[in-house]
Parts: sequence; C-alpha cells; structure tokens
Amino acid sequence: MRTETMQKDKKELDLAAIRADFPILDQEIEGRPLVYFDNAATTQKPRVVMEAIGRYYGEINSNVHRGVHHLSQKATDAFESAREVVRAHLNAAKAHEIIFVKGVTDGINLVAHGMRRMLKPGDEILISTLEHHSNIVPWQMLCEESGAHLKVIPINQRGELDLEAYRALLNNRTRMVAVNHVSNALGTVNPVKAIAEEAHRVGAWCLIDGAQSLPHMQVDVRDLDADFYVFSGHKVYGPTGIGVLYGKEEWLEKWPPYQGGGEMIAEVTFEKTTYAGLPHKFEAGTPNIAGAIVLATALGYLQDLGLEAVEAHEAGLLNYATEQLKDHFPELRIFGEAAEKASVVSFLLGQIHPYDAGVLLDKMGVAIRTGHHCTQPLMHFFGIPGTMRASFAFYNTRQEIDQMIEALQKAQQMLS
Ligand code: PMP
Repeated sequence: MRTETMQKDKKELDLAAIRADFPILDQEIEGRPLVYFDNAATTQKPRVVMEAIGRYYGEINSNVHRGVHHLSQKATDAFESAREVVRAHLNAAKAHEIIFVKGVTDGINLVAHGMRRMLKPGDEILISTLEHHSNIVPWQMLCEESGAHLKVIPINQRGELDLEAYRALLNNRTRMVAVNHVSNALGTVNPVKAIAEEAHRVGAWCLIDGAQSLPHMQVDVRDLDADFYVFSGHKVYGPTGIGVLYGKEEWLEKWPPYQGGGEMIAEVTFEKTTYAGLPHKFEAGTPNIAGAIVLATALGYLQDLGLEAVEAHEAGLLNYATEQLKDHFPELRIFGEAAEKASVVSFLLGQIHPYDAGVLLDKMGVAIRTGHHCTQPLMHFFGIPGTMRASFAFYNTRQEIDQMIEALQKAQQMLS
C-alpha cells in the first residue's frame, strides 16, 4: 500500500519514496541538482497524476453529460466521481456545491459576477492588505459597476491581520468579506474560521481564497463555515486550468449563471431559456474533463501521504530555513513573521535586488521567486518593490535549504 511505503509513521514522510514519484525533481540545472522552491507559484506533479492524464486520453476521452455511448458514460462517471472526491476532501455537504472552474481567479470572478445585481450603491466589500491581485481586482471591478465601496483590513508589521480593525470595519452595509487563508507572499495563516463567524454576525458572506491553504493543510469548509472557498488544481499537485469553487447550496441556487451556453441549460427556445440546476448552471460549455478527473487523483495522492505528516514536514522545513537564513545573514530581513505561518519565507538581503539574486541562484540550480508575488499593495505597505520568496512542498528537504543558503552566500559575494 502506498500509505505504508511513503509514510514511515504518522509524523515522518519517506522522502526518498516521495521524490521518486516526482521525476522532474531529479535533474541538474547548470550542473547543480535542481532545488525547486517555487511551490507557491505552482507545484510539481507526481507520476500518478501524469499517468492519469495519459489514461484519460488513452482510454475514456469523450464529452460528458451528452452521449449515450459507452465512452461518454465512462467519462461522465469519472468526471462526477471527481466532484465527489473534491466534496469529500473539503467535507462539503453536497457534491453539487462543488463547481469546477479554471482556478482561483476564475472562481472569485464567478462569485463577484454573481453579486452584481445584488449590490446597492454604498454596500461594502471587505478584503485585506494581504490579498493576491485575484482577490482584489474582481472586487474593484464589481465596486465600480455597482457603486459599492472596497474596504481593506489592515495588517501589522509581522504581516498579521488586525482583527480589532476588522471588527470595526464590519457593519450592516458589509456584503462580502473575501480573504486568503494563507498569504502567498508572507505565509501568514489567517484565522478564517473566526473571520467567517464575524462576517456572518453582520449578515455578510465570507469567501476564502484557499490557493495556498489546500496544498498544506486539511481544510473542512463546513467547520470553517465558509460561504465560498476557492482553490486551484495546479497548486495541489494537479494540472493547470482546473480549480474548484465551493459554495453553499443556499447561495449558489439563488446566484445567476456566470456564462451562458451548452451544459448550463434546462431548455432553450428563442423566446426564453431556463437554466440547469447546480452544479451545471455554473459550468457552461465543455468543461476541463481531464483536469477534473486528474485533480481528484492529485487530492488522493495528498490524502495517501496524510496531511498531518505533510504539515509537520513542511513546518520543519520552514523553521529550518528561517533559522538558517537568520544565522547566515545578519542583515537579512524577513517579511512575514506571523505567529502562524505556512511554507513560505519571503526576504530581502541587504541592498541586493531580488531579481539579481534570483538570476544568480538559478545559475546554482535554485529556483526561487522574486518580485511582488501579485501582491503590489502589500509590497507598498512594506515600502518595497518585492522580495525573494522560497516556498516549500512536502518533497523538499533540508539539504536543499542548505544548497539555497550556500547559493545565497555566493550571490551575496558576487553582488557586493
Ligand atoms: N490567491 C493566492 C493566494 C495565490 O497564491 C494565487 C496564485 N499565485 C491566486 C490567488 C491565483 O491563482 P490562479 O492563478 O491559479 O487563479
């Protein structure tokens, strides 16, 4: 059983077995072993995911929900089973609360679109300073159209949300509170359960951007009592172009469709069209069938590893990286020192421009991300153009962190 081979015990992952599942990691860049620390941007794919893509196209490729023939039924069964796998993974109450979308960006746009006709001028949407552009811009567009106002929950210097200020911002005009679960730029884990509870107290919805939480922890949307939770497949070891919007049935049923077309209708005449029920109302056109099926494979892989073990391993990596960076570089400044953090360390090294360091690290096999991480307002808060960011996955090791430290030392020598 894979659980036995990959998980020595509840707390310790078998890294050798896991890394054998990720052939892309086994290569050299410029003569050095590849160290992939850009997992917050996208994750690598295990063999089972790549094999599942081949199996889908090699064995059951067909359009879903339409054909009476054998292949179409197989594809439909696999597609709907994938929805059930996602439901179970998130502990959602009903499979039709799971809407397949392209990713977080698409899911948030769907929700913002759905709210268009429900907002009055003067209504308020609340986001936070920590948000990714995809959880800012759709709300700005919605506010422009509707006359609603965008309000922003402030943070402290450690990169934690100011919860008192949040409470003070809530009022009976607040219609939506949209925050990320984990910050992609700083790694802050936000207390989203408490945030949702407060939002509900004033009758607002709460949307949680789960792009950076689902890869790292067990998420239970019913426990969080999220009205909406969105995630992207490519950040949870699945393919690009597929993601999920979870929404409570009671809201999604009342929401207007996002796009019109095939799949989302009950009946079409030139005079009037009636819409299909959930979830198809929100899935116009041929969906990303292979993407959804393979996403279920990726979630299964994560479940087999055990999210507790994943979390423990990644917490160990984060602590080790933070300590090593601080020990080796007294002039290094870490951005994001929240009490609760996940898998991301963002930093600046003296006067060195992050881009220059990133290019040199790449020459030594180390892939980190540099720049604003699609969080320009957050960078403005810190008064910086960007950071260097190392983000970890369960397949990363302490030796790789050592290689990054060594590469950073060399880069520092070259640049100063
Ligand atoms: N939110 C967060 C916190 C993210 O990290 C990302 C991806 N960097 C997104 C939203 C957008 O995800 P996608 O590009 O997959 O739609």
